[in-house]
Amino acid sequence: MKIEQIKNGIVIDHITAGKGEELYSLLGLDRVEIPVAVMKNMTSAKMGKKDIIKVDGEIALNTDIIGYIDPCATVNIIKEGKTVSKSSAPLPRELKNVIFCKNPRCISSCEQELDHIFKLTDEETREYRCLYCETKAK
Ligand code: ZN
Repeated sequence: MKIEQIKNGIVIDHITAGKGEELYSLLGLDRVEIPVAVMKNMTSAKMGKKDIIKVDGEIALNTDIIGYIDPCATVNIIKEGKTVSKSSAPLPRELKNVIFCKNPRCISSCEQELDHIFKLTDEETREYRCLYCETKAK
């Protein structure tokens, strides 16, 4: 694919350099059947270096994941070769089945059918804690 020219798709721009890969795998882009490119360490006037993810096709992305990994990233929706919307992904208040609790004794680690839910507990430090046992996400 020509990564410069996406007709209909999504470009996630201004990703902090080094976070592109993590975002790519958390978004499940390694499992889609449309062309996806991760461009690393691109030059940016604003940021010095940045990562970019280009998705050549229309798929639904979980913007909670983008906001969690990098609230500075911008999501551009491309239609007919033109950017029709450009927005940053807000810091999500809650994460559902995105990250998993590290506490082996947490009920979410034991009960398979439970959703893995994390709540934003500190906006400044972007701290998330498990809903069930309050273990920190990072
Ligand atoms: Zn837990």
